[in-house]
Amino acid sequence: MLEQKLKEVIRDVPDFPQPGIIFKDITPILKDAHLCTEIVEAFAEQVKDLKIDVVAGIESRGFLFGLMLANKLNIPFVPIRKQGKLPAKTISESYKLEYGQATIEIHDDAFAEGTHVLIHDDLLATGGTVVAASKLIEKLGGKVAGFSFVINLEFLKGEGRLHRFSENVISLVK
Ligand code: IMP
Repeated sequence: MLEQKLKEVIRDVPDFPQPGIIFKDITPILKDAHLCTEIVEAFAEQVKDLKIDVVAGIESRGFLFGLMLANKLNIPFVPIRKQGKLPAKTISESYKLEYGQATIEIHDDAFAEGTHVLIHDDLLATGGTVVAASKLIEKLGGKVAGFSFVINLEFLKGEGRLHRFSENVISLVK
């Protein structure tokens, strides 16, 4: 089963990026082309009943399967990036981290008003990043159609924060 296979391949890296954190490293997945295909197919199957016009992926690991999924669904991909990385006119949203804050941005012409957007990232932790991403989507007049993650760290209870944007929260590994 896919979840079991992913659990075997995803690597725990202790004390990264700081002491006490166990980082879930998805890079070993990327070495296995067949597994990557299985992941994209699993996402595509799970979103098949949702109305999605665009996939928005969050820098940087959200670009990996986000772009592959958009391609599989034959719809556009939109990057959401850290501050200062997108070249054209952007709108931005800041959010709190455990220490300090972060800002993410999207091009202001990324999609038309009324577009249904699936937000994709590699991992859901506290939810702060995708809550900020959802606000960007709504500021542009879009509708959050759902969220997809490779990993949901359920013990951090991020999912509950997403339901005000969409009830559709998909993850392959919990
Ligand atoms: P959140 O905003 O607390 O939900 O954190 C999620 C963001 O942090 C995502 O963009 C993830 O890529 C990143 N992140 C946090 N912890 C990990 C991890 O253990 N592995 C990979 N990415 C992580």
